[in-house]
Amino acid sequence: MRIVVVGNGVAGMEAAQAARRQLPTAAISVVSEESDHFFSRTALMYVLSGQLSHAATEPLERDAYARLGLVRVRARAIGLDPARRLLLLAGADPLPYDRLILAPGSRARPAPWPGSDLPGVGSFVTLQDLAWLEEEIAPPKTTDRPPNEWAHLTSGASDSPYRRRRSAAQARGRRAERPVVIGGGLIGVEVVEAMLALGRRPTFLIRDDWFWPIALDAQEAGWVADELRAHGVDARTGTEVSALEGGPGGVERVVTNKGTIEADLVVVAIGVVPNTAWLGGVVPTDRGGGLLVDASLRTAVDDVWACGDAASVPMPDGSHRTEPLWYTARAQGRLAGRNASSPGAPAPYARGTWYNSAKLMDIEYTTAGQLDGDMWRFEEAGAVRSSTRIAHREGRVVGFNFLGRRWDHSVCARWIEEGRPVRYVVDHLRQAAFDTEFVLPLVVPNDRRP
Ligand SMILES: Cc1cc2nc3c(=O)[nH]c(=O)nc-3n(C[C@H](O)[C@H](O)[C@H](O)COP(=O)(O)OP(=O)(O)OC[C@H]3O[C@@H](n4cnc5c(N)ncnc54)[C@H](O)[C@@H]3O)c2cc1C
Repeated sequence: MRIVVVGNGVAGMEAAQAARRQLPTAAISVVSEESDHFFSRTALMYVLSGQLSHAATEPLERDAYARLGLVRVRARAIGLDPARRLLLLAGADPLPYDRLILAPGSRARPAPWPGSDLPGVGSFVTLQDLAWLEEEIAPPKTTDRPPNEWAHLTSGASDSPYRRRRSAAQARGRRAERPVVIGGGLIGVEVVEAMLALGRRPTFLIRDDWFWPIALDAQEAGWVADELRAHGVDARTGTEVSALEGGPGGVERVVTNKGTIEADLVVVAIGVVPNTAWLGGVVPTDRGGGLLVDASLRTAVDDVWACGDAASVPMPDGSHRTEPLWYTARAQGRLAGRNASSPGAPAPYARGTWYNSAKLMDIEYTTAGQLDGDMWRFEEAGAVRSSTRIAHREGRVVGFNFLGRRWDHSVCARWIEEGRPVRYVVDHLRQAAFDTEFVLPLVVPNDRRP
């Protein structure tokens, strides 16, 4: 049995490990263009801001391949020949497979504006992006980074998400001082935070009327914007970019509907898309490029499974959607690896209740379930500032959005699954409190209870 996994991110490595558990003697290869070792993409910003070494973001020991008997193939996959069961590689012989697991993740949504190819313009999704951004903005490392840490990163083909960009700092002989971040989502705010940690005061351009509208309402986003400004960020909402301008030395200006902004570095964070174009449509996709899978994560192509950011999974309402999150990629990887290597009946993907959490500057953020239906809302503005929204339909809780306090999403998810009445949930909120020591508990006065 030859199992080939494309991707050594969380989905691919979980799949490879699950397959190894099922089949101790199978030949398992893991193909990766991006890097030698599995690392936590969610920790990239901490490396950029100098809080973590890159090695500290690797969840597995570096001998994991040898220990698990996995063959590492450092190459770019460029296509699939399903009739001959071959994975096609750039500059190397095709790789034959009996079972193929596709876990190629996401790539940055490309910037649509003229000037996007100028030196000093890039995104923040890959290890190559991190290496580029460090050159542009970070001081020479004082962490435990070995001098050749990035030596294994290939320069990459011009259309590869794993290519290394040209640094404008090198051309100019100085690091960037006037960075601009475009895109008001989670990655955008992470880049802004890293820039603040590096002593810069970035301009943050947000097209919508408020920050991160798919997750926050106007009031919540207003609070985050205040927080950004209090830290020295020039956060501008309702600002639409139309072009990036500059010269051979790199980007110099960002042109927007509200005027032109001087810039010597532009980070484009306008979302991610499934990294599947290299498959050339051989595996059916949804309209956004996500690889369509059934409940067992199998694609329509014989002996091919997909998992992680690149997989478009079935939803209870019959639609398909990608779930670009770490914990879903991990769960899907485990399942795809198990199903691809197990002779028994395939297990179905049990997503459970959606949740997410993050820190937006200093503000804790937790969400769970769906935020539609009627809304109960409560705000505090005393020793603790917080905002709590609980969505409910016909009195039963369906979703939560919390800012300013830390909450245990698993308790919230359980209340949703149990169909608890909104009154019950508000009365028992303390059971889900995850605040650090000495933080006064949330108290909802009687006249504010639902
Ligand atoms: C800056 C940032 C912050 C994030 N923060 C959070 C967070 O706080 N919480 C959260 O839940 N999620 C977060 N995410 C999302 C999370 O990181 C992803 O959902 C998760 O990493 C997806 O894992 P994956 O294994 O599917 O893909 P990836 O981690 O993207 O791995 C893809 C793999 O495929 C390989 N590959 C792709 N194409 C090819 C090819 N053609 N040939 C060879 N190899 C190929 C690559 O080498 C790589 O190994 C963040 C993402 C980013 C970029």
